[in-house]
Amino acid sequence: MSKQTHAFQAEVAQLLHLVTHSLYSNQEIFLRELISNASDACDKLRFEALNNNALYEDAPELQVRLSFDKAAKTLTITDNGIGMTAQEAIDHLGTIAKSGTKDFMSKLSGDQKADAQLIGQFGVGFYSGFIVAEKITVETRRAGAKPEDGVRWISGGTGDFEVETITRAERGTSVILQLREDALEYANTWKLKEIVGKYSDHISLPILMEKEEWKDGELIDPKDENGGRKPGGMVKTGEWETINKASALWTRPKKDITDEQYADFYKQISRDFEAPLTWTHNRVEGSTEYTQLLYIPSKAPMDLWNRDKKAGIKLYVKRVFIMDDAEALMPSYLRFVKGVVDSADLPLNVSRELLQESRDVKAIREGCTKRVLSMLEDLAKYDKAPEAGADGVTDVLSEEDKAKQGQYSKFYAEFGAVLKEGLGEDFANKDRLSKLLRFASTTSDTVSVSFADYKARMKDGQDAIYYITADTLAAAKNSPQLEVFKKKGIEVLLMTDRVDEWALNFVHEFDGTPLQSVAKGAVDLGKLQDEEEKKAAETAAENFKPVLAKLKEALKDKAEDVRVTSRLVDSPACLVVTDGGMSMQLARMLKQAGQQAPEVKPVLEVNPEHALVKKLDGSVQFHDLAHILFDQALLAEGGLPEDPAAYVKRVNALLS
Ligand code: ADP
Repeated sequence: MSKQTHAFQAEVAQLLHLVTHSLYSNQEIFLRELISNASDACDKLRFEALNNNALYEDAPELQVRLSFDKAAKTLTITDNGIGMTAQEAIDHLGTIAKSGTKDFMSKLSGDQKADAQLIGQFGVGFYSGFIVAEKITVETRRAGAKPEDGVRWISGGTGDFEVETITRAERGTSVILQLREDALEYANTWKLKEIVGKYSDHISLPILMEKEEWKDGELIDPKDENGGRKPGGMVKTGEWETINKASALWTRPKKDITDEQYADFYKQISRDFEAPLTWTHNRVEGSTEYTQLLYIPSKAPMDLWNRDKKAGIKLYVKRVFIMDDAEALMPSYLRFVKGVVDSADLPLNVSRELLQESRDVKAIREGCTKRVLSMLEDLAKYDKAPEAGADGVTDVLSEEDKAKQGQYSKFYAEFGAVLKEGLGEDFANKDRLSKLLRFASTTSDTVSVSFADYKARMKDGQDAIYYITADTLAAAKNSPQLEVFKKKGIEVLLMTDRVDEWALNFVHEFDGTPLQSVAKGAVDLGKLQDEEEKKAAETAAENFKPVLAKLKEALKDKAEDVRVTSRLVDSPACLVVTDGGMSMQLARMLKQAGQQAPEVKPVLEVNPEHALVKKLDGSVQFHDLAHILFDQALLAEGGLPEDPAAYVKRVNALLS
């Protein structure tokens, strides 16, 4: 194939523009990205070679080599991994296959640090080479292809790229960066070693650089970055040395690994710039043997809500990388966990399909789930500073436990809603999960109240855990349904996550106490109401009967029923649904999501003590007042009147 010119896909061109124009402040990440690609290419070769050993040709030792030429101003990253065919080079380096890229572009904030982080998350890694290079040449040959079937790909990083056939003896890929004038510092052994140490130390593949030594150097300035020896300068020796640790971190004993090394490893596998919130590292022995190193990130990734998002666990078998995103190893509700599982028992050629059926995998998945839950329970235990017990004694915490204060709240703010999916997904761990839930409540604006906290504060005679679901905290707090609870000082949990309503379908009680929505069914405060109050309510209901009948008739199209309630104090009316019925909020949410939702006909409950309700009796405007009552109750609850214009008209008529 002679030289051909191809245009970049429009998104690539756009992306390149962004990469070269907005990512100067974090230049050095380009090396991490390119080394990571080289390492992926070696992993792919190792994997394909499981079934075809000939792919190793005469170079079974997989490695990455860094070299530079100061005079030519080039930096080259070479791997002997899988390589690319001409078509693969055109496809992979000229288009962005991932649909996430548009999303990526829209998320760019202009803040260079944050944007650089996005590059990693969205895997547009190769193009980051253009941060430091004015031209990139890629020379590559697919493993197993003939030397004459090599490819050269060249681009200046603007509109197009050239491809031509070359002869290349070695399999794998060389990425040759023609460095920009302002990026010449990367043609330097110290600089490269420093960056590799920072980002790629734990790549389980050796990264090699040619050793240099001083030629007739005499010490001129010891503070000079190169040690101050000048005359002959550094010269290459032709001998290559490994510059990274190249050992799989998880195989080393815990005591030999510093927190910093754990954090660095996390950053490398997750492509996250922030340190993880916490981690757990264990060797599990028994019928299934494996090592797990699992991390909880500090921040939720942007695609957390993508249902197709795979779990972030890398699977290794006896240190050989098998696959990324091994979803069989972690339940979907823990998809935010990142890490490594290295099994001693699985076969090397295990496929995703096999994973689903393997009993070992099932055991690993259960083990990993339990580990993550223990990790969370531990954080939750020390989240708040300890309080004095009944005996006046306050626990003194170790430094390590003290450091956990506030961590669980942080975790919960990022991932709490995902964790709730587990209630419907993982019945075996439902009780443990229920204990990990936190809510805001009428006595706490922060999402920090557990069911256990709630129970400990329950009033004498209270026999249910009361809650309300709403779209926002403000809407929940100001719901008319809460009025009598506020008056009596009974705490109500305020639930505002979209998944709450769904998740609560799976939790009917906590530790023997039933959960009761204050917006469902008739209010029954049981022993919390005294005899006098009960009598007064009954008399009011009796006297109100004729008006009720008229209200029912006027609202028969809108309301399932109309009844008198004692749950209201300041509001004239509110809407509730029948016990076990779908809440109006959930029905609205389903509709918004374009899903089928049953028509929910609510019950209108009225407060016979309210002036507006008293006015109903004998009013000539009875019909309009009835509809205003209903529509207002709907508004207060976050809904919209069926006919907003008619509502406005009726209110205006009253006002004037
Ligand atoms: P990502 O690595 O996230 O897929 P990149 O833009 O970094 O995105 O790379 C795009 C694709 O180009 C890779 O998926 C891979 O198929 C191919 N590629 C990049 N670098 C190499 C390499 N050194 N060897 C083989 N293929 C590579």
